[in-house]
Amino acid sequence: MKPAESTEPIAFCVARRARDGVWDLHVSRCPHCAGSHHHGGGHDGVPDGGGRTADCSRRRGAASSYVLVIVATFDTPTRRKAAA
Ligand SMILES: [Zn+2]
Repeated sequence: MKPAESTEPIAFCVARRARDGVWDLHVSRCPHCAGSHHHGGGHDGVPDGGGRTADCSRRRGAASSYVLVIVATFDTPTRRKAAA
């Protein structure tokens, strides 16, 4: 595990590969608002976690960031290479 770089809280998330190949990172419990958020995780072989700005930042009126830690990964077994 990498050492913490800041005092940003950690948010656990689950990564799912969408049909378009882009990772969807689902935070079920935000450390700031206790709600759920989604983030893009890129489209590489493994999802890209790390620092993000929480979606609730705007509602709260203050920048709320966290570090995403991916606890489970669900890759789509059959990916369409071309849209029909
Ligand atoms: Zn939040």
